[in-house]
Amino acid sequence: MYKASEKRYETMEYFHCGHSGLMLPAISLGFWHNFGDTSSFENMKEMCFTAFDHGITHFDLANNYGPDAGSAEKNLGLILKDQLLSYRDELILSTKAGYDMWSGPYGNWGSRKYLLASLDQSLLRMNIDYVDIFYHHRMDPDTPLEETMGALEQAVRSGKALYAGLSNYDGPTLEKAVEILNQLHCPFVINQNRYSIFDRTIEQNGLKETSRKLGKGIIAFSPLAQGILTDRYLHGIPEDSRIKTDGRFLTEKGLNQIRALNELAAKRGQTLAEMSLAWILRDGVVTSVLIGASRPAQILDNLKAMQNCSFSPEELQLIDNLSKD
Ligand code: NDP
Repeated sequence: MYKASEKRYETMEYFHCGHSGLMLPAISLGFWHNFGDTSSFENMKEMCFTAFDHGITHFDLANNYGPDAGSAEKNLGLILKDQLLSYRDELILSTKAGYDMWSGPYGNWGSRKYLLASLDQSLLRMNIDYVDIFYHHRMDPDTPLEETMGALEQAVRSGKALYAGLSNYDGPTLEKAVEILNQLHCPFVINQNRYSIFDRTIEQNGLKETSRKLGKGIIAFSPLAQGILTDRYLHGIPEDSRIKTDGRFLTEKGLNQIRALNELAAKRGQTLAEMSLAWILRDGVVTSVLIGASRPAQILDNLKAMQNCSFSPEELQLIDNLSKD
């Protein structure tokens, strides 16, 4: 039977989600890849234990994570039941609905019908009574924002979620959503968006600044650009890497950028992964970086990022130059 390390809160830092009372670890663990039914259950368990033993109290899921869709939630449910349930009050579990999940018109996007049914399904798969954060996964141009926000508020009011979150929203839509959520007295605390040295969308679409201004948290997903901002691809494409399995490719220009960023990281005494995560945490606007991992050792590597999150203006400028398309 798993027993959590007694030192689990000694090194992790925790930050408030904006002006709310909810704190998240500087590094959180995502279940998008490597937690579906095609992955090793033993490895999943070890990743959960390694994370929690080092203060990673937040596990992020979505209805569609797998493959098959739903299996990451089901597998977490099994791990919780057998090993982690006694720590439920120390864990922040999140899930989302917004992408295609089941056939027909009610299994996708942002209707009240879809969101509330999906949350019920997620709770059943994870075998828990509530999630800590329930997100709308992406903006829906064809459903009134009032309806989607009303569904989040009902999720909270029913006790099936403690807090609400929004994912992949932009600044102007976030502002409108917050107005509605405030009227509904819904505890909306966090935005989940892609953010990395290579992806500055939230700096450009107003999300980062609007979120700061409104006192909301941000959790940054794909902070390592799915593994590209690590030493994984510096000397070729490993057989067991994500790039090998998902059919993306890396250009020569991209490789040169990574090599130059890797040199800068080495000068700072960090790995490229550590520097890339530290860069996201540099200005205190992002609450948590949401990493993925394919093995426990990667989680341990990434935890070291917290040791140095300050950058000189020259380093920041160099990173900007090296990340241009
Ligand atoms: P990352 O950018 O952190 O990529 C994770 C991958 O990077 C790992 O699977 C591994 O690749 C590689 N990696 C991680 N650490 C190291 C290391 N120290 N050294 C070498 N390689 C390393 O994040 P993800 O893209 O996985 O996203 C993280 C989470 O964000 C998801 O699990 C999910 O919870 C959330 N997310 C949310 C989305 C949304 O729309 N809201 C969309 C996408 C993600 P390999 O497998 O090749 O070993």
